[in-house]
Amino acid sequence: MIKKQLVFDGNEKQVFATDDPDKVIFRYKDVTLAYDSIKRARFDGKGVLTNKISAILLGYLNKNGISTHFLEDVGEREQLCRKIEIIPLEVTWRRRIAGTLATLLGVDDGYPAPNTVVDLQYNNDELGDPVINEHHAVALGLADYGEIEKMFSVARRAGDLLEALLHRAGIELVDMKLEFGRASDNGEIIISDEISPDTCRLWDESTGERLDKDRFRLDLSDVVSSYRIVLERLEKLKI
Ligand code: C5P
Repeated sequence: MIKKQLVFDGNEKQVFATDDPDKVIFRYKDVTLAYDSIKRARFDGKGVLTNKISAILLGYLNKNGISTHFLEDVGEREQLCRKIEIIPLEVTWRRRIAGTLATLLGVDDGYPAPNTVVDLQYNNDELGDPVINEHHAVALGLADYGEIEKMFSVARRAGDLLEALLHRAGIELVDMKLEFGRASDNGEIIISDEISPDTCRLWDESTGERLDKDRFRLDLSDVVSSYRIVLERLEKLKI
């Protein structure tokens, strides 16, 4: 596979074309952003950890019948992925209610809801990524009802699978944000982007310690040592 020109230079990731029109290379940067990109920092080595964790989690979903864009690791902070057409929606799976939803609903952070919540946000920085419903998404032409239904059902299956996997590592999956795209080769709706402590809330099951990006959001300390704990525990599972 030959790496070609940079096609997208995001804050936390870069995407490069390859000699295959249906494949791209994703490069994970060391930059971390929060609160609609208002808060920003650089943590040396973070991109290596999020690449490795994401490769394990996306690879695990692939093996369990859930299609993602991930194909293989091709470097310390790079992975080969299927090319997609981006769908500007975020689907968040929530076993507990935390973060922005806890604020919106006026409950304690980590509220143990009796149900699993799956919600939809419009990925639009200017509007501050508002929570929307499926009718709004269809009205905006972002996806059709069938595609949204598929995203919700994939999010539920992915949440169940990753929750059980992380539990084996002594980590509680509190919530997780997923993004989806249409694969350029066959139009299939697949999970795109990363799944890592940057996009999930991960709590140590025995101590309750936060092992995810909340460490940065809440000024709890450097994220790298926590992300390393997550990676080491996942590697021990020999998935
Ligand atoms: O803040 P909120 O409760 O909506 O976050 C839900 C989950 O989505 C968290 O795991 C958070 O890390 C993730 N998230 C993300 N990217 C965003 C917003 C939230 O990965 N832009």
